[in-house]
Amino acid sequence: MAKTMREFEGRVALVTGGGSGIGQTTALAFAREGAKVVVVDLNAASAEETANTIEKGGGQAVAVKADVSKAAEVETAVGAAVKKYRRLDCAFNNAGVGSMGTPIDLHKEEDFDRTIAINLKGVWLCIKYEIPQMLKNGGGCIVNTSSIMGVTGIEGSAAYVASKHGVVGLTRTASLEYAKHGVRVNAICPGVIETPMNIRYAKINPDLVARNIARTPLGRYGQTPEIAEVVVWLCSDAASFVHGHTMVVDGAWTAQ
Ligand code: NAD
Repeated sequence: MAKTMREFEGRVALVTGGGSGIGQTTALAFAREGAKVVVVDLNAASAEETANTIEKGGGQAVAVKADVSKAAEVETAVGAAVKKYRRLDCAFNNAGVGSMGTPIDLHKEEDFDRTIAINLKGVWLCIKYEIPQMLKNGGGCIVNTSSIMGVTGIEGSAAYVASKHGVVGLTRTASLEYAKHGVRVNAICPGVIETPMNIRYAKINPDLVARNIARTPLGRYGQTPEIAEVVVWLCSDAASFVHGHTMVVDGAWTAQ
């Protein structure tokens, strides 16, 4: 019997923050659908771990260490993808950092700058270097990680909230700029998801878990596959008319 072709067979997907949490699960999901995956992370060891897991499962992946806030490193990471696999079809611009509950008047300028540099400028740099490669093969799909904090505010996280609102704006603008060139661009806004990032915060602030669960109408944290599935779908042909969209996946946090 002929083997069924998986949807992403022959396509190359780049995932930033692919060494952990949402990025790692999404990298594995792309690989399961047949994509060759470029796993980009500041943490080289964790990027390698994700790439090795993919290869052990019979897929193809390469790990690239890069800081998404540095133009030269993003350019090199995208270049590495193209050098290894000759094309770039999908990108999940997901690397990001949280910022801890500090009101604006007490927030350190360097923390604000760092959050914006990674979460917002990092996404802009990724788009900037991914687009020319996608245009070479007639188009592609980009999903940027925003957050429920990209569409609502929350006390104590001004830098994070501003960075994630910025990602929504970038996504909308990029979708307009590249609509005619076959590159679809969307944003995903996860609610509270059980990832190493949130596990770190829960250790610092144990009340946070109960507060997050109480604020989520579905009454629980989301799991990383619940985001990964949506990202892969947004990059699939089934989502061919979904463009410039900000998709919340949040157990109804933002419905309130
Ligand atoms: P995580 O900490 O588990 O993973 C983030 C990954 O990004 C790590 O591997 C880290 O090394 C990498 N990274 C950090 N800074 C980087 C940089 N400068 N360059 C390259 N890689 C870098 O976090 P996560 O919870 O999986 O978060 C992933 C994304 O989802 C982030 O953008 C985060 O803001 C967003 N998000 C998370 C949640 C949540 O509840 N976990 C909710 C909404 C949005």
